[in-house]
Amino acid sequence: MNRTKLLSIMPYVLGVLILILVGVLILTGLNNDTGSENNKPTEAASKPTDTPADPTQEAKNDPTSAADTPTDAVEPTAPADPTQAPTEAPTEAPTATPVPATPTPISDLTFGYKFESKADYVDTKDGVNLRLGASTDTEKVAFLEEGKRLERTGYNEEWTRVIYDGQECYIATRLIIRAVDSIDTVVEPEPEEGEPEANNNTDDNTEVANGGTSAVLDKASYYGAGAGRTVCIDPGHQIRGNYDTEPVGPGSSEMKTKVSSGTAGNYTGITEFQFNLDISLALKTELEERGYKVIMTRTTNEVDISNVERAQIANDAGADAFVRIHANSNSNTDAHGIETICMTSTNPYNSDLYAQSRLLSESLLTTMVGRTGAKMRYVSEVDNMTGINWSKVPVSIVEMGYMSNEAEDKLMATEDYRRKLVVGIADGIDLYFSKQ
Ligand SMILES: [Zn+2]
Repeated sequence: MNRTKLLSIMPYVLGVLILILVGVLILTGLNNDTGSENNKPTEAASKPTDTPADPTQEAKNDPTSAADTPTDAVEPTAPADPTQAPTEAPTEAPTATPVPATPTPISDLTFGYKFESKADYVDTKDGVNLRLGASTDTEKVAFLEEGKRLERTGYNEEWTRVIYDGQECYIATRLIIRAVDSIDTVVEPEPEEGEPEANNNTDDNTEVANGGTSAVLDKASYYGAGAGRTVCIDPGHQIRGNYDTEPVGPGSSEMKTKVSSGTAGNYTGITEFQFNLDISLALKTELEERGYKVIMTRTTNEVDISNVERAQIANDAGADAFVRIHANSNSNTDAHGIETICMTSTNPYNSDLYAQSRLLSESLLTTMVGRTGAKMRYVSEVDNMTGINWSKVPVSIVEMGYMSNEAEDKLMATEDYRRKLVVGIADGIDLYFSKQ
């Protein structure tokens, strides 16, 4: 090749080189754009089940993820313990597909909650929302009009993680009725602690007490008869149930859930745990005025005290009487009235307390009906109530009325009727001690 010819093709060679250089630069730039595309939150949100091995870790390490996700704002109220969070996810990292820097899947919203792993099934109440994340701010996946049994993979006291339609989602833990080991477990219709099934009485059409008139509540002749004695008051239930189990009696292999959140007014919407607490706090004041020493198993709704533990509080206090405050509920909305509950005379755990507990229950029933004018139902004797079976002191459950009955639910919401209930219960305790 001669010099002239070489010089003549030089511009072409240079041109081609420049073109290649420009091409490489453009391609590099495009690749970077594609990378940031992957980081857009919509990508992650569209694949909620595609959870990276440890999403909580991602969220923790990435300061931008919180800013990107406005719903994170609700998280700080959670009982945060970030060190516990990783237990919910498999520890093995996926090596096949590199995880984009900021995926922020919606399940990251569980961050901050202590999720305990579970591998069982739960039954839900009717009318629950299934959500994509552990927050009411997250997208609703489904609404279950009727209660269903769902596979459970984790829970904490706020949220329960379940599988619905092959997808991981969350429901409020307080809407769980029970946990079972198998999807096929047949659950016997069992009365809830403090809520025995109503007998098949046909006389439930009598009128509900008229609480409209303000009664003059004179002191009974036995007022303050037990002054100086110790009474333990147990306001039934708490804001959230605890569906772990405990023995139904000392040494028993039969297990029952620890404590439920109770019923609620069909018409007023008042929760039983709140109603029980309101009455119990007023009862404490009333009893103290009458000279009693009063021990409370709880004074707020934000507690987690099982039925065994409630009995142990009464036992440890050496209470002279253990009075458990509840309200009733039944699918037969005609059912109404007051009943009280104690053990049977052949209870395997504490039948020695039967005579006193029966007397306490009868006394309470008599005076409560006397003060309120409510329908007198009966003293119910059962041996399947954990809190009764573990008691080492005379014990009675009072069922103040039916929150499933329209008239009684509305009546129990009034100050006037509540006052009658409180005085009625205090009178019953006085009457019991007057017979000792
Ligand atoms: Zn109850």
